Amino acid sequence: MSHFVRGMFCRVCGKRYPISPINFCTEDFGPLEVDYDYDKLQGDLTRQTIATRAWNMWRYRELLPLEDEPRVGLAVGGTPLIRADRLAEALGVRRLWIKNDAVNYPTLSFKDRVVAVALSKAREFGMSTVGCASTGNLANSVAAQAAAAGLETFILVPADLERTKIFGTAVYGAKVIGLKGTYDEVNRVCTQIALKYGWGFVNVNLRPFYAEGSKTMGFEIAEELGWRFPQHVVCPMAGGALIGKIYKAFRELHLLGLVDAPLSTRMYGAQASGCNPISACVKVGRERHKPVKQPNTICKSLAIGDPADGYFAAKLIRETGGWADDATDEEIVEGMLLLARTEGIFAETAGGVTVAVARKLIEQGRIPRNEEIVLCITGNGLKTQDAVFDALESPPVIAPTLAAFEEFVGLRSSVVQPAPALA
Ligand SMILES: *Cc1c(COP(=O)(O)O)cnc(C)c1O
Ligand SMILES: [Zn+2]
Repeated sequence: MSHFVRGMFCRVCGKRYPISPINFCTEDFGPLEVDYDYDKLQGDLTRQTIATRAWNMWRYRELLPLEDEPRVGLAVGGTPLIRADRLAEALGVRRLWIKNDAVNYPTLSFKDRVVAVALSKAREFGMSTVGCASTGNLANSVAAQAAAAGLETFILVPADLERTKIFGTAVYGAKVIGLKGTYDEVNRVCTQIALKYGWGFVNVNLRPFYAEGSKTMGFEIAEELGWRFPQHVVCPMAGGALIGKIYKAFRELHLLGLVDAPLSTRMYGAQASGCNPISACVKVGRERHKPVKQPNTICKSLAIGDPADGYFAAKLIRETGGWADDATDEEIVEGMLLLARTEGIFAETAGGVTVAVARKLIEQGRIPRNEEIVLCITGNGLKTQDAVFDALESPPVIAPTLAAFEEFVGLRSSVVQPAPALA
């Protein structure tokens, strides 16, 4: 379907590779990136063409790395971009939007986008067994979409993951295995399995295709703004791929003339203080991140100590004039509650990180108060309820009478209104 893919290239040395299930350069272990023929694409993909297509991630299919029609995740994407005036007021800014991937289909996180591409590609490669290393959301999405595609699935996770995320994987019939270790240790084992058995591990040997799926979040943001770029985007970072792919999406739209205005969006990264390799790297001005050996945060979905795209994420943040910061567990909970109470959006801990970091960046004067800001909300709060459980009081219980209600709420119950007369 995309006749515009030319192959892959190494992001470090530029060496070219044909499309195959590999993710690193044999010369220098640099990550591989899908290469498109943008000249050939000029004029082929127009706003009009896109407008005729269904409102899901595949409306930008020419810019995704599949040969044929997508076979997995046909309904993924097309999430709302919401004008968030009440949150804006609370943060002291004027024009704020939320890109709400907490309601993505089918597993309520942005990972549905990357998995739809990776598993469609796995089918093209003729693979029948797939899997992933995951901090939770990826596990949910691989399990659900692989079940729908009839693929055999192995999912390896750190054993201390949230119960909800383990349930939300096992329910689809995937073989879920907890490993006594950090995400980075789990990932290492997955790399060995993928190499030895040739299975499709979405974030390992399928990573170049997987990561491209994230671009659709950027395409949608620009289209939903009326084919414009926002001035500032705040994005949570785990492996550091999403932030780079949103910007890549903007660059592609600009290159293809789908957005005319120059691209000057500043990108801001958000992490948890208990696992902040990329934001620390930006804040202290290092070129490369120092891995975090023992992540310790309630935001497990972002707890990757040695992020695969950490170097590129930090570089992008610097080059666009953005910044990065991180949020403590307490600030994460405050961020989750603020978003829920101003906009009616219950996001997972990663959403709390994004809101809390956005607030810091605004207070620091790094994001100007009168410019256009988009916050990327990437996962659903129903999956991480434990994080806010202690912050909420359980509801009071009263007798099932009007008088008990009035007494509880403090209304005067002694003044009895006469019943309206019957005609
Ligand atoms: C995976 C994930 C991210 C970050 O993705 P990367 O591309 O690995 O940086 C953000 N939010 C949530 C909820 C995630 O599950
Ligand atoms: Zn290389």
